[in-house]
Amino acid sequence: MRQSQLFTKTRREAPKDEVAKNAQLLIRAGYIHKEMAGVYTFLPLGLRVLQKIEGVVRAEMDKLGREILMSSLSPQELWKQTGRLNTVDVLMRTMGANELSLAKNDASYVLNYSHEELITPIAQEFGQSYKDLPSAYYQIQTKFRNEARAKSGLLRGREFRMKDLYSFHRDETDLLRYYDQVKMSYNKIFEALGLGQDTFVTLASGGDFTTGFSHEFQTICDAGEDLIYVDRKNNIAYNKEIISEENAKKLGVDFDALEQVQACEVGNIFPLNIKFSKAFNYTYMDEKGEPQLVYMGCYGLGPSRVMGVIAEKFGDNKGLVWPESVAPFRVHLIEIANGNEEVRSEAAELYRELTAANIDVLYDDRDVRAGEKFADSDLMGIPMRIVVSEKTLAAGKFECVERASGKTDHRSLPELIGHFSHG
Ligand code: ATP
Ligand code: MG
Repeated sequence: MRQSQLFTKTRREAPKDEVAKNAQLLIRAGYIHKEMAGVYTFLPLGLRVLQKIEGVVRAEMDKLGREILMSSLSPQELWKQTGRLNTVDVLMRTMGANELSLAKNDASYVLNYSHEELITPIAQEFGQSYKDLPSAYYQIQTKFRNEARAKSGLLRGREFRMKDLYSFHRDETDLLRYYDQVKMSYNKIFEALGLGQDTFVTLASGGDFTTGFSHEFQTICDAGEDLIYVDRKNNIAYNKEIISEENAKKLGVDFDALEQVQACEVGNIFPLNIKFSKAFNYTYMDEKGEPQLVYMGCYGLGPSRVMGVIAEKFGDNKGLVWPESVAPFRVHLIEIANGNEEVRSEAAELYRELTAANIDVLYDDRDVRAGEKFADSDLMGIPMRIVVSEKTLAAGKFECVERASGKTDHRSLPELIGHFSHG
């Protein structure tokens, strides 16, 4: 893409009320636009990153279940049925905004914060026999939560993106078998997103779903709101909320000996067991023709929060630094022409060649000072910068700078194509 056609621009300052590093960088670099606390628009660059993250998640999820897209609005009756209408402290409701609108329809609706109430009746409709189970559905969708503090940028939105997977099983054994598969898929996802090293499966409270634990995926991050106790040797962590003498005994762990770090919850998986099947009376017919309650699991992961975590963790004093797998483009091609037509046509030719080789390039074809181009490029954080200037033209090789390390070298076009087709 030509940068002159991106339309959005970088800005020197983030809004004054924006205190989170991730949002400050993402706003300044032109990835997101702040609407109000906890609510952001994804601009062209930001949407590309979000879609990359969601693509990584989708590729793994497609191995585990079928993708659907559930509604954002739902009838309050569904939430009454599970008793959650009056107990979920972040649940939001929406209705007509004025008299004219209310005169047409004065009903109000729940804005879904999670989708157990919707998916359970759907799974029930299509999964009535033991032969239909297990089944699993997932979606990647916008969620709404009335969060008390929304000061952490993409880490805590009042509107945010979630991937939610739900699975339905004949018994607890089959649920636990599937649950372990999801755990492995999540590890693969965070590995692919460049967060593998710092993301730990973390025992956390099971909520009101189960007497056991749920499993969070916690990424070490100073801006994270959770405190976790990490056992690196065994590659596991414990959320502070479960630290107790009773659990120390139950798990055989000496919590005091573990490393305590701030972390951000990027995923959370729950064995729901029969909580929702009971509420909706979802039974299936077993081999003997007897009705049995279905066992259920739910598995959440937050793509927009992950984007914020990546910005927090890898961003430096010059700007964002994207891992290759989620970067909006692989190459930032910077033309320093200063009116030299030869440089211009060389840069345009390189843009064509790289694009033809299926390499995503952002081509800075703007007529602005070199210093401004470099500063913008650092702020945007695309993994590799390639410079075309009078100097590189004379040398016959392009200057390549790695954003993360600052490592610089000089490569010819075939060397560049070779680099990208192997990496
Ligand atoms: P937290 O404890 O951080 O409020 P949660 O436990 O309420 O999160 P879940 O209901 O487990 O969140 O949601 C599944 C996933 O959705 C989380 O692991 C996280 O990645 C993401 N998520 C939850 N709330 C938000 C939010 N307000 N903004 C962005 N992402 C969120
Ligand atoms: Mg959670």
